Amino acid sequence: MKKGFVYLVGAGPGRADLITVRGAEVLKTADCVIYDKLANPALLQFVSKNAEIIHVPKRIGEGSCTQDEINKVLAEKASAGKTVVRLKGGDPCIFGRVAEELAVLIEAGVDFEIVPGVTAAVAVSSYSGIMLTDREYSSQVTFVTGRESPGKTDTNIDWEVLAKFPGTIVFYMGMGTLDSTARQLIDNGKPADTPAAIIANTTFPNQRVVRAPLERINEECEKQKIKPPAIVVIGAAAASDIRFDWFTKRPLFGRSVVVTRDIPGNADFAAKIVRRGGNPLKFETIRIKDLTDSNDFLRTLTKIGQYDWVVFTSGNGVTTFFDALKSLGKDARVFGSAKVAAIGGRTAERLSEFGIKADFVPGVFTSRELGKQLIGFTNLQNKKILLLRSKLASNELLEILAGAGAQVDNVAVYTAIAAKSDSAWLVEGIGEGAIDWLTFASPSSVDGFFEQIGSEAVNSGNVRGASIGPVTSERLKELGITVDVMAKEHTLDGLLDAIEEAGK
Ligand code: SAH
Repeated sequence: MKKGFVYLVGAGPGRADLITVRGAEVLKTADCVIYDKLANPALLQFVSKNAEIIHVPKRIGEGSCTQDEINKVLAEKASAGKTVVRLKGGDPCIFGRVAEELAVLIEAGVDFEIVPGVTAAVAVSSYSGIMLTDREYSSQVTFVTGRESPGKTDTNIDWEVLAKFPGTIVFYMGMGTLDSTARQLIDNGKPADTPAAIIANTTFPNQRVVRAPLERINEECEKQKIKPPAIVVIGAAAASDIRFDWFTKRPLFGRSVVVTRDIPGNADFAAKIVRRGGNPLKFETIRIKDLTDSNDFLRTLTKIGQYDWVVFTSGNGVTTFFDALKSLGKDARVFGSAKVAAIGGRTAERLSEFGIKADFVPGVFTSRELGKQLIGFTNLQNKKILLLRSKLASNELLEILAGAGAQVDNVAVYTAIAAKSDSAWLVEGIGEGAIDWLTFASPSSVDGFFEQIGSEAVNSGNVRGASIGPVTSERLKELGITVDVMAKEHTLDGLLDAIEEAGK
């Protein structure tokens, strides 16, 4: 039997792309992934479809029973010959109870590797500009737990020594005991006006930072309703130059943006929003249905090399087409000498992933411009053109090309069907004013959205609507929805640029 193996992997502090390269690499090899509350579920994107995912919601306050269960599952899965990844928030070895897990593995004779991660305190420093060390004021840092083992009678924390510690004191798990921590330090001689800070949900779009003198930090956190997970920083570091805080100045920081595409499309778009500091909320409105098993498509495929131009008007069209090619045991050579046009940069990029460099991409990414500019680019008289598109695409492109004397064949490779998602949270969020933007990247996502959510729910709230281009805007207007901004460049990045420009 294959021997099992366990990787204890640091998931990093929150943001999925802050995992290490090694961490992401071993996630791809896992047969089984065990992850707890602090590891971002977005990391499961790296995991193979066939892997078993075990979620262990280990919360503060729960006893060691859950840890025993985790240990048991770890040993069981590895002993069954599986490659197991135990994904742990931050760094596995910082307040991660790793020794207990390792003891169980050693006992069971299971080999292991530990992959480090960015620990919360270190991420806090980068993402809030609170420098834990500084040659002027702090030459040492100490990491302290705010919560010791339950049932432990004597404490490991020497408050007298800690109160005298001249560097930066960082508390993990310190929210629940903040009041007594501050009191103990002050009672033992730490000046009451020592700078202190709390950083909650670091690296996430809902990161919160509160700064106050030690004697008032707890009160201030209660006032501002700060919730864990949070790191407490005490010492001159907590008074670092406020201008070092780059993260909360990101253009979309603190803004919640609903993305309304299919599942892979939403993931793509969400990553772009995160990069701009925003909070993406995924709402699936459409599912892509592959239509490449039609006779029409199969017949077209046999003679695709006879066309002068093959035109793709979406990334989904490209992916569906090449998936079909692959399952038929064919590859990009079916194009022969046919030239390939793409509606925009993203579609061209998708083509290049399959080894095709688009021969033509218009300057403006709409079907109309694609038609008009292709006519300007080359003589289409009597040329044979194949459009590989969504079944729902309009006739406009076809008419423009036919008008220039081309013989156009239009073959649907996919269609979008409405999805059914849980929508209560969204209606509630809009009602409460907790959602800033709704974004629409195609007319079918508009339809899929409003089949699930009434237009009155949108119109009565403060939420704003953003559209990728004229056809999508038209569909929104038909439904009586106000389009607050429309992308100048009809791409997802263009859509986010428009939201940024609209401001708060
Ligand atoms: N192994 C983890 C720490 C686990 S203890 C690491 O290296 O980061 C859990 C504590 O970590 C929380 O109570 C909190 O103090 C801190 N923490 C984890 N993620 C955090 C986050 N995103 N923002 C702020 N603090 C976080």
